[in-house]
Amino acid sequence: MRRRRKKRSIRNALFAIGALVIVVAVIAGVKLVLEKQGIMEEPDDSVAANADPAGEDEQGNQSTKEEQEQEALAEAEKEQQRQTVMDEAQRLALSYDYDAAIELLKTLEGYDLDEEIQAKITEYETTRDSCQPVDINEVTHIFYHSLVVDPHRAFDDTSDPQTAGNSQWMTTITEFNNITQEMYNRGYVLVSIHDLLEVTTDENGNTVYKPGTIMLPPGKKAFVLSLDDLCYYHSYDGYGFASKLLVDEEGNLYNEYIQADGTVVYGDYDVVPLMDKFIEEHPDASYRGAKGIVALTGYNGIFGYRTDSSYADPAAYDDLNADKKQWLKENPDFNLEEERAGAKKVADAMKAKGWEFASHTWGHLKVGTVSLERLQTDTQKWRENVEPIVGATDTIIFAHGEDLGGWGAYDASNEKYQYLREQGYTIFCNVDGSAPYMTYLGQDYMRQGRRNLDGYRIYKNAIGEQDNLSDLFDAAAIIDPERPPVPNL
Ligand SMILES: [Zn+2]
Repeated sequence: MRRRRKKRSIRNALFAIGALVIVVAVIAGVKLVLEKQGIMEEPDDSVAANADPAGEDEQGNQSTKEEQEQEALAEAEKEQQRQTVMDEAQRLALSYDYDAAIELLKTLEGYDLDEEIQAKITEYETTRDSCQPVDINEVTHIFYHSLVVDPHRAFDDTSDPQTAGNSQWMTTITEFNNITQEMYNRGYVLVSIHDLLEVTTDENGNTVYKPGTIMLPPGKKAFVLSLDDLCYYHSYDGYGFASKLLVDEEGNLYNEYIQADGTVVYGDYDVVPLMDKFIEEHPDASYRGAKGIVALTGYNGIFGYRTDSSYADPAAYDDLNADKKQWLKENPDFNLEEERAGAKKVADAMKAKGWEFASHTWGHLKVGTVSLERLQTDTQKWRENVEPIVGATDTIIFAHGEDLGGWGAYDASNEKYQYLREQGYTIFCNVDGSAPYMTYLGQDYMRQGRRNLDGYRIYKNAIGEQDNLSDLFDAAAIIDPERPPVPNL
């Protein structure tokens, strides 16, 4: 895990160096253009002020105007580089990576004689030394499903049984934005689930999980975020949810959203782009650039791309459910490899932004209920259809919140647990709304309970029938005014 964090720092440093190269290239280009136009020949007061006032070289000769200009230009380039590095260091420090920030400042030539940089280094060291370790047993883990863009389409038609599900399980964009801002105001900092662990090896070569070290300034609290079912299922169609994730030329993620009248619009219509933007604007909302962990099934594909092999298997056509058949009918040009390439582009862009991935089982299984054989077949489908796109994962986020066993240590004789371990899963998450946090560290695995910030819970808290969110926000203050009363479960 440390390695990954280091990688993040190195990546940030490389980014800064890349930015420098661009700046230098731009300045050189501007100079070339100016010279061509003869503009550079004109004396420039601001440049002259920075130039050597004597205007003489070591031999005491009058240096030419051209030499003075070149010197001034080099000086300006250097200042630009210095500013770029300082800005990047500030961003690193805001994301609590003080050592990386200091390391980066020290790459600047003459940093030890630069008073402003010395002051920054002292400031970062002081803040770093004031940080306290986070108790990983007190890290809350919240989760959402895809966000409701249009509450009327999601909730209004009460004769439709799906709207009851939407109103219970789903959170609206307004609610998400309010919660994110309020948790930030209260000092919550998003950390990676992997930051909670340090994987070590004992003297016998056994893997031992130890609590990870997260250092935060006083008053800050860590939380983990997960997103369930980021697949844009066919069943969401027409209910006011985004329908796809896409990547722009700069590597930023955005959504496709089909409005009620059928027109297609693009923008920030779900957690991924909204959270990316929020953290871009508030770098101190995230610990070293961590984002959430995204739990994916496979049966309808992922991120709105129909990546599952079942869509392309004519032999299996008769067994497809009505949703898939209908979709194939409407999309006769469907090409499995193109869908997979599109999803891969999204996954790669998400990883570059700090997002991580987990299995949610391929078929949204109740792992406690299904047979071992069903779990095995399902896991292989996930490996064949989802893993090639998002990469291998050590995390499984149980669908329906149904766990393999009771709370605490897993029973080693539990065959399903043994099987999932063999498949590389060592982090297991369920749903547990009863406590603000619930983390159990086994010798070589971790279990964590997650809190559903869904419509039902928000509504029940907002009207005072439940009180289990007040450590995060005031539900009455963040609830979407367009949300109708949520029926009892
Ligand atoms: Zn789910």
